Amino acid sequence: MTEISPGNRLIAAMADGDRKALQQHGVPFDFPQGHVFQEPGDPIEHVHFVERGIVSSVAVLQDGRTIETVMVGCEGVTGVIAATVPQTALSRSIAQVAGASCRVEAARLRALVAERPGLGALLATYAGALQAELEQSAACNALHRAEQRFAKWLLRCHDRLDGAAFNLTQEYLASLLGSQRTTVNEAAQGLQKSGAIAYSRGRVTVLDRAAVERVACECYRVADAFRLAPGSES
Ligand SMILES: [Zn+2]
Repeated sequence: MTEISPGNRLIAAMADGDRKALQQHGVPFDFPQGHVFQEPGDPIEHVHFVERGIVSSVAVLQDGRTIETVMVGCEGVTGVIAATVPQTALSRSIAQVAGASCRVEAARLRALVAERPGLGALLATYAGALQAELEQSAACNALHRAEQRFAKWLLRCHDRLDGAAFNLTQEYLASLLGSQRTTVNEAAQGLQKSGAIAYSRGRVTVLDRAAVERVACECYRVADAFRLAPGSES
């Protein structure tokens, strides 16, 4: 079996033996933008250690409205709750930005975790960070303005992607942020007027990261425990 290079930060952080054991069962997986990994109620059969791109967990309400609850990029893994016991997905898992992952069968991961306490501890630490992020975003969604949340969200994407630009339609953005399309439009226009971003035909380019940071709410720094180093500001 080909060894997959650890473009994923969690895999890179594993002890050598754990990493090799995991990679023996990892399958390279490419996903396009919009790819649905699973719907609410589906059993979590695979986890994805994301290497490139962004996968979101999105809560789906009965009326069809959606909001992003968790964002996973090269710092993390999808479906971490299935690492210890079999689980059913609570939300939709969808690729926001096309990319690639190391896919592992959840049952296989559970067997590895049972044998390898270090691996289990690393995944538990990650799961704890996600929990902290969820607690913060409950406050954020209720109390912070759309522009602040939009800026926070942009920074989190920027951290997870190689380049400063990414493709997202306003409709999609609105569904991720749980806001009206017009609200997202206003937030994007505000940042664009100040020169912080360029936004054209669904393509967002971060031009002045520091300016976006000034607009973002405190939640960006508080919650993103697995925050990555800022990307290049091209
Ligand atoms: Zn906030």
